[in-house]
Amino acid sequence: MRVYLSRPDITEKEIEAVCAVLRTPNLSLGPKLVEFEDAFAKYIGLKRAVTVNSGTSGLFLCMLALGIGQGDEVITTPFTFIASATPVMMAGARPVFVDIDPVSLNIDAAKIESRITDRTKAILPVEVFGNPAGLDKVWEIAQKHNLMVVEDSCEALGSALNGKKAGTFGTMSVFGFYPNKQITTGEGGMILTDDDDLADMCVSLRNQGRAKDSGWLSHERLGYNFRLSDINCALGIVQLSRIEQFKAKRRQVAKWYQEMLADDDRLIVPAEPDDCDISWFVFVVRLADSFTRRQRDRILEAMRGQNIQVSNYFPPVHLQPFMVERFGYKQGDFPVAESVSKSTIALPFYNNLTYDEVAIVCKTLKEILDKN
Ligand SMILES: *Cc1c(COP(=O)(O)O)cnc(C)c1O
Repeated sequence: MRVYLSRPDITEKEIEAVCAVLRTPNLSLGPKLVEFEDAFAKYIGLKRAVTVNSGTSGLFLCMLALGIGQGDEVITTPFTFIASATPVMMAGARPVFVDIDPVSLNIDAAKIESRITDRTKAILPVEVFGNPAGLDKVWEIAQKHNLMVVEDSCEALGSALNGKKAGTFGTMSVFGFYPNKQITTGEGGMILTDDDDLADMCVSLRNQGRAKDSGWLSHERLGYNFRLSDINCALGIVQLSRIEQFKAKRRQVAKWYQEMLADDDRLIVPAEPDDCDISWFVFVVRLADSFTRRQRDRILEAMRGQNIQVSNYFPPVHLQPFMVERFGYKQGDFPVAESVSKSTIALPFYNNLTYDEVAIVCKTLKEILDKN
């Protein structure tokens, strides 16, 4: 038996909704796009939602809409998926990393102020693995220094901190809908904001720089084709309507893991902070400090050898080869992120993972740890 790292949760309802679009002539910029944006804005509780073809495109458009470019700096975390930092660079600006909090694994708000310069334009925090802890503190620091916040909420759809939803801690925020996310549109993303001007700018930028009321072949600015088709939007509408069910299923799987792994002192098992409502994105355990990176990598290989898919979310962003080449970062620059990064094991995690599968994963992991 094979246990997968991630699987989408697609029912007949999603298949019907996609097929229904295919029976109309409106495959792009049609009614499903408007419906998806309206439903999403309502769910998050912000005024505007703008669909795009990926989370990466969404973050890039935020940079452009906020006027961030050459000579500017954006403060972000080195412990995230690469697509938090690359949109900053695509816009011509420089990502400036700040080390992470060892418990939440999110950017350490207390370390941000020392990295603010007169070139700093924005802070780009991430709710890593769906955990929104500390996002309120990031917003406070940004307010104090008059900085914009671009919230990378791509891993946190449905999470909340003190009742305030992920996606509402930024000047703009972005969600992603790749198949491993809480909801999927195949590929896709969404920009959220309360600011009409910023939203209108994103609408123009995603659609070849067209102005709101000008013709199809009139272009007001340099734009892109980052549109999301109505086929994808129809899928997204059904998926979003199931978000509470998805959250509950994922919470159950997380609970099984927590129960089965809690008593193993070789592992650090993620927990939900009291002030957080986590919409679980992935389930990442960490090995105790005594384990080396090589041991972790051997454990990953052994798990794969038992037909259990696992991953090492995330290698530090600042140590990716092109980052080292471009900015000269080195081992030791962000010690907390590096030490966490060498110890992580992302276990199989998705809505319909069964109790028996979780039990097999945990049993296999413990057996492999016994041999190390
Ligand atoms: C998934 C993800 C993105 C966006 O990914 P796309 O594949 O472009 O949709 C951005 N940031 C983080 C932290 C992510 O996990």
